[in-house]
Amino acid sequence: MDVLMNSFSLYVHVPFCSAKCTYCDFNSYAGQDSLMGPYADAVAREAALWSPHVAGRRVETVFFGGGTPSLLPLPEMETVVASLKANFLIEPGAEFSLEANPGTVDAAHLQGLRRLGFNRISFGVQSFHDDELRTLERIHDADEVKDAYRWTREAGFDNVNLDLIYGLQGQTFEGWQTNLETALSLGPEHLSLYALTLEEGTPLTRDVERGRKSGPDLDLQADMFEWSRERMKQDGFHHYEVSNWARDSRECRHNLVYWRNGDWLGMGPGAHSHMFDERFADAASPRRYVELVKETDAGEGLDSMHQVAMREGPDREREMSETAFLALRLREGLDISAWEARFGVDIMDVFGEPIRETQELGLIELVDGRLRLREEAVLLGDEAFMRFLAPAVSSNMI
Ligand code: SF4
Repeated sequence: MDVLMNSFSLYVHVPFCSAKCTYCDFNSYAGQDSLMGPYADAVAREAALWSPHVAGRRVETVFFGGGTPSLLPLPEMETVVASLKANFLIEPGAEFSLEANPGTVDAAHLQGLRRLGFNRISFGVQSFHDDELRTLERIHDADEVKDAYRWTREAGFDNVNLDLIYGLQGQTFEGWQTNLETALSLGPEHLSLYALTLEEGTPLTRDVERGRKSGPDLDLQADMFEWSRERMKQDGFHHYEVSNWARDSRECRHNLVYWRNGDWLGMGPGAHSHMFDERFADAASPRRYVELVKETDAGEGLDSMHQVAMREGPDREREMSETAFLALRLREGLDISAWEARFGVDIMDVFGEPIRETQELGLIELVDGRLRLREEAVLLGDEAFMRFLAPAVSSNMI
């Protein structure tokens, strides 16, 4: 636990996209490429602003998410990475991940990213069927995924994740099976499989609400999940989080920090942080973010970081709640002794009722001092998580 609390992670949000996908509710923008230079300078400056506040603390993982981080040209990426290396104590063996859209990379770009120090690439593949990719308004096709994957290996990356979405409109069970088989045949170290969900405010959700498209078939999604879980097991993958599978010990170390409710510092438009016992987030608009970073003076603390637009102060009840339900997302579950050591209270005094209730409902089980979702209840996780929510915790967290 000490290691977890003394070290921390860095997250850099890259908000640029070539086009906005129909199902996406992330903080991402198409048509703002002219801001990439000022954006990179602003993140570099933000890193320098935070540096004195984390002196002596080591960085175990760095994650560039988006948006589409692979859209950022190498010179701008170099500006950002150099500032991270100059301002933070990044461990030599740190995980250094980048989310990439397969349609935005070529061999030279991937080699450049490897030279900058990235050692893990996560591709937003979503599907290997071009008709499904068109429905999602993704900019890449299946052949581009295969090319990107080959170039990634040739560039020397030995840790690759592929994201896939199941339960897409019109997708048959067999269509999904082909997608997963194609992904497995490439031989990635990690796979993230997400059910298509309707997020508030997205074009897809509006189309479903207006009856122009049908919503996801939840029964079919459950069948796809169950089949995938068995298929992944046969292929030697370890299911370690509701939607995530890894070979050997290639779990995403960065995401484990989130699920174990560790500390991370987010930089860039809309980036969230969990540091200094607080949760806070930078201004979401890229233009506004750039202006606000410029207005902040070096050496000032969290109170005067102008780019921080949302802030939730320290809240012990929230921390207890988040630490519990985030851990329940993991197949390893919640280590009760570690939770009690972290908060200095008996877990039954705080969560006695939800623990009893979720056990009676068959959602969670107690095994070797850990509370975890039962194998049969993984898809019903939200039913369990919501019972551990403190009143102040947003349901967006689960
Ligand atoms: S590429 Fe990713 S972040 Fe960008 S719009 Fe599509 S889903 Fe959203």
